[in-house]
Amino acid sequence: MISRNALNFSGGPGALPETVLAQVEAAIKEVPGVGLSILGISHRSDWFASIVEETENNIRTLLGLSKDFHILFLQGGATQQFSMVPMTLLRGQKNAAEYLDTGYWSSKVVAEARREGPVKVLWSGASCGFNRLPEEGELDFSPEAPYLHYVSNETVEGLQFQRVIGRDDVPRVCDMSSDFLSKPCDANKFSVIYAHAQKNIGPAGVTIVLVHDSVVKASSDELPSFLNYRRQVESHSNLNTPPVFAIYVVLLVTRWLLNDVGGLENMAQINRHKAELLYAMLDNSEGFYNGWSRVEDRSQMNVAFKLPNAELDKKFLAESHEAGFSGLNGHRAIGGIRASIYNALSVPAAEKLVNFMDDFLRNNRK
Ligand SMILES: *Cc1c(COP(=O)(O)O)cnc(C)c1O
Repeated sequence: MISRNALNFSGGPGALPETVLAQVEAAIKEVPGVGLSILGISHRSDWFASIVEETENNIRTLLGLSKDFHILFLQGGATQQFSMVPMTLLRGQKNAAEYLDTGYWSSKVVAEARREGPVKVLWSGASCGFNRLPEEGELDFSPEAPYLHYVSNETVEGLQFQRVIGRDDVPRVCDMSSDFLSKPCDANKFSVIYAHAQKNIGPAGVTIVLVHDSVVKASSDELPSFLNYRRQVESHSNLNTPPVFAIYVVLLVTRWLLNDVGGLENMAQINRHKAELLYAMLDNSEGFYNGWSRVEDRSQMNVAFKLPNAELDKKFLAESHEAGFSGLNGHRAIGGIRASIYNALSVPAAEKLVNFMDDFLRNNRK
C-alpha cells in the first residue's frame, strides 16, 4: 500500500521524503546526540552553528557552487526576495532592470520591483495566456540593465526554462523556488538565486538565497538590517532568531539528496522519468487531458492540464481524492488539474497516478 502522504501531489507546501519525515518525527522528541527537542534548541548554540554550516556545505557540493557565493537562510519567503533584490540592485538606478513576465509568479515579482525603480518587461506571455516561454530570438537583452530577473519554473502554469538565459556581463537573478535542487544548474552563472524551501526542499519558513559577493558588497547601509544582504552575511543568517526547525529539515533533505539519491544528476533522471510518464499520458489521451504548456517548455515539476469541461475536472478531483491522491487541484488562478511531482514524489506514486488517469479516461470518454 502506498500511503496518502506518498501520493501528495500538492503544488506547495510539497511532499517530503518519508525517511526525512521519520527523522523529523524523532527530532521533535529528541535530536540524536543533543538530547533536546528540535523545537527548543537555541539558535546561538554551537550545535545550530554546525547545522547551518553543514547545510551550506551540502548545497555547495550539490550545485558545485563557487566560493564567491554566500548562502543565506532568510525569512519572508520568496516574496520578500521580490523586494529585497530591487532594494539592493535597483534603488536610485537610471537604467531599467529587465524582467521576464512568464506567468503567475513573474507577474507578482514585476509588481514589487516597480516599487523600487525602473523596470522593463522584456517579454510577456500575457497575450498567449502564459502557455509558453520566450525563444532566444524573442529576447533582446540590454548590456546596460542593472540585472535580469526571471523565474526558472512557473509553478502555476507548469513552464520551465530548459536553459540559462541572459548575458554574461549583466547580473542574472532567478527565482528558483519550485525547481531548486531538482536538477543540476549552472548556479555560478547567476548573481542571486533564491528559493523558499516549501516546494521542494523543506517546510515553509526558510528561504535559501545564494548571493554573489559583488551583490553583498553593493548592499547599502541605508536598508533595514534585516533586508540587507551584507548584514545577513556578517551575522551568518543569525541576525535575529532564524527558523531553526525549518533549516534542520532542509539539512535532512540535502543529506537525503547526497546520500540516498546520490546527487542532482540522479535526482534529475528520476524527475525526468516521472514527468515523461505523465506527459505521455496527456499526449496519448487524444485530447482528453489537455496540457497547459507548449511541449518545448513543459515543466518537470508541475504538470498542469484540463479535462474537456469543468464538470469533468471536478469529477476527476473527487475520484482521485477518493483513490488516495491529494493536492491535484490546479492553482486557483487557472483552475484545472496540476500534478506537482517534486523531488520527494516517487516513481511508483507517479505510476499510480498514470494508472488512475488511464482508468478515468476509459470510464469518462464519450
Ligand atoms: C510559491 C512560489 C512563490 C511564493 O513564495 P512565498 O514563499 O509564499 O513568498 C514565489 N515564486 C515561485 C516560483 C513560487 O512557486
